[in-house]
Amino acid sequence: MNILVINCGSSSLKYQLIDMEKETVLAKGICERIGIDESSISHEPAGKSKITTKVDMPDHTAAVKYVIANLTDASVGVVTSLDEIDAIGHRIVHGGEEFANSVILDDTVIAAIEKCNDLAPLHNPANMIGINSCKEIMPNVPMVAVFDTAFHQTMPRKAYLYGLPYEYYDKYKVRRYGFHGTSHDFVSNRAAKILGKDRADLKIIVCHLGNGASVTAVKNGISVDTSMGFTPLEGLIMGTRSGDIDPAIIGYISEKKGLSAEEVIDVCNKESGVLGLSGGLSSDFRDLTTAALEGDTKAADALETYCYRVAKYIGSYAASMNGVDVIVYTAGIGENNAKVREMVGQYLGYLGTELDLEKNAIRGEEIIISTEESRVITMVVPTNEELAIARETKRLTGK
Ligand code: ADP
Repeated sequence: MNILVINCGSSSLKYQLIDMEKETVLAKGICERIGIDESSISHEPAGKSKITTKVDMPDHTAAVKYVIANLTDASVGVVTSLDEIDAIGHRIVHGGEEFANSVILDDTVIAAIEKCNDLAPLHNPANMIGINSCKEIMPNVPMVAVFDTAFHQTMPRKAYLYGLPYEYYDKYKVRRYGFHGTSHDFVSNRAAKILGKDRADLKIIVCHLGNGASVTAVKNGISVDTSMGFTPLEGLIMGTRSGDIDPAIIGYISEKKGLSAEEVIDVCNKESGVLGLSGGLSSDFRDLTTAALEGDTKAADALETYCYRVAKYIGSYAASMNGVDVIVYTAGIGENNAKVREMVGQYLGYLGTELDLEKNAIRGEEIIISTEESRVITMVVPTNEELAIARETKRLTGK
């Protein structure tokens, strides 16, 4: 059985075709600059090199057509026809309070997702375009929606309510939703399996540190708190996002710089985080780590501030779960940046964590990086959101 996983952004479309018998990727790729000039598709069949082709993609339907053309192509393709695509799994950013689980897409579900568009105006409409384009081209292939927010729907009220007038929640649905749920679920599950334990018996803190970053407290197998909030802007300092700030700063800067609130929030999303802190140097941790080593004080500050915030969240979730058994790092920085894990680790001695620095230096693989004596197991578990989406799609389509 082959499942096509689609992750559709406003001008991009990422895809993976996964053979579910062996859980291997047959091909993956990305369409970029859809609806803009110079659009292109980069297609990578397993075991072969990536081919990038410039093609005219005025909309996402055109992009899906190129994806199918590449997947079924005589030389770079991996299947002979569309019939070999058994189901499609779509990554959907926001499922609101409506969706606590993945669902088969039908007209009723599509209408319910559209109702959530208001909550994620940058992401959900783009996800919907992906769904509609696939439906147009492959009307008979079953499709499943997997939501970034779903895993966090188990949070208790005390974790998701903000200290705001209750009407804002009641009427406008202002609450913590949390994101990266597919990754937090996958990684915490995998960590328990590696340890040979039942996730239901563990208190796990997952640090998903990528360009976007969030920490989740997973207690007895469910999410009980997470650092991203109403939008993905809250919580950790990220590549370009500010994370937690005093909301009064928005009004203050808007007056000082003559910007609208929306414009200041745009700065908080796109020009802040470690990019902003490093004086515009980079949002990429490889550049920042190198610059800091070469004596760039702003880059060093950005790293310090970033790690301090991660450590604060770990501490607060250890408090909210009344303990922690396992801390897991995942995503680009969590999996690859030993320095960040070491710097965060330096704040966590009081929890009884101790890193084995030799093991911590190993990159991008499943590994326990704490010492035998460490009271809290610390590990690296690479995330695989596409596989998680494919597994959900397989489960629901019953294929
Ligand atoms: P996204 O949220 O866009 O999926 P990623 O999970 O790819 O982001 O994370 C991007 C970050 O991961 C960048 O800051 C980058 O420096 C870091 N990163 C990715 N790969 C490596 C690597 N091999 N070594 C060090 N850092 C890496």
